[in-house]
Amino acid sequence: MNLQKSQALYEQAIKIIPGGVNSPVRACKSVGCDPLFIEKADGCMIVDADGNRYIDYVGSWGPMILGHRHPSVQNAIARAMERGTSFGAPTDLEIQLAEMVVAAVPSMQRVRFVNSGTEATMSAIRLARGATGRDLIVKFEGCYHGHADTLLVDAGSGVATLGIPGSPGVPAGFAEKTISLPYNDMEQITTVMKARGSEIACVIVEPIGGNMGLVPPVAGFLQCLRDLTQETGSLLIFDEVITGFRVAMGGAQEMYDIMPDLTTLGKIIGGGMPVGAYGGSHEIMSHIAPDGPVYQAGTLSGNPLAMSAGIAMLQELSRPGFYDTLNQTAQRLEEGFRQTIYETGIPAQVGRVASILGLFFTKQAVHNLADAKTADLDMFSAYYAGMREQGIYLAPSQFESMFVSAAHKPEHIEHTIDAARAVLKTLT
Ligand SMILES: *Cc1c(COP(=O)(O)O)cnc(C)c1O
Repeated sequence: MNLQKSQALYEQAIKIIPGGVNSPVRACKSVGCDPLFIEKADGCMIVDADGNRYIDYVGSWGPMILGHRHPSVQNAIARAMERGTSFGAPTDLEIQLAEMVVAAVPSMQRVRFVNSGTEATMSAIRLARGATGRDLIVKFEGCYHGHADTLLVDAGSGVATLGIPGSPGVPAGFAEKTISLPYNDMEQITTVMKARGSEIACVIVEPIGGNMGLVPPVAGFLQCLRDLTQETGSLLIFDEVITGFRVAMGGAQEMYDIMPDLTTLGKIIGGGMPVGAYGGSHEIMSHIAPDGPVYQAGTLSGNPLAMSAGIAMLQELSRPGFYDTLNQTAQRLEEGFRQTIYETGIPAQVGRVASILGLFFTKQAVHNLADAKTADLDMFSAYYAGMREQGIYLAPSQFESMFVSAAHKPEHIEHTIDAARAVLKTLT
């Protein structure tokens, strides 16, 4: 495979951009490859600078649930552009998208738009603290909620371990305000909430773990969080930046029928443009400025191009049967992986929730970050490189998920399964 142009661009990029990338995992460091520079994409296909074509399961890390360059989204952006690119004043488009979001997501009565998932979670945390007058927050190991200071904490696996900064630059004083617990562990969260519940502003969780590889919640976990937070007067935040409009129109809260107090959205809601959102009940959202004292703002928030892309996206997703068809496609891919793993005898776990797939190279079932870390990373690297060679574009990390889009057709799925079989055979 000729990667000359990607290679040349990478060498240029690393001179002026840290690691040559504007988001670290794009650098492919953990799998020992250099990044592909992308020229263009269409449907489920992505094309690199050298003209190599790949079936794309990254989907820009989740947003491209319709595939790339969906005509409705493209046209909506083009139409909005004719009216101007940003006004810093309210537009009808914000109302339209807000109405669609509130209609779709069960727990949201009011919504505020921001520019990224990071901003959404950061703002939701501030709101939770402002509304409760408490400082502590609880998160779960392996859940990613963007790169805000308080959320970068990844404390060890001990019970209620109080903060170790997950990154230099995060003051210890911030990290101390974050309690990090193992995902899916109902005992530990119960202990912490019983002991310190009255100090805890919120519990934030990915209702389906998507940033340590795919780790679904065990039965009862989300209900347990709902019950505990209700008892202590803490707010429950579902970070649905991945799951929102992905696993169902109403996200994981609709799928599992559990109402959080606050919801954060991103990725799909922007149709490939930079958008995030957070929201909850009228009462909670009334704390946000200018209605209330909790400050949060944005020069480009509610940007008309981004709102238009989001509106077109949600219109497409609300077509009858959209999720059934998408999930069937993903199910076929899951079955293909299972069969291939069975045939080759590779120690691996295949998981799927709706159109999100996970593959861990480990013998043991994966319910949390510690389980995920038992995966054989060398085997993943060889698998990643092999798949790329076969024309399959995957996220360059064992701890990421695969996203199937509506543009993946049976022939793409069968081609992917054949590629996986060929690659896994070389790993035995
Ligand atoms: C991607 C992601 C974020 C951060 O969103 P950005 O738009 O990258 O800032 C937050 N939470 C979850 C669950 C995510 O997957």
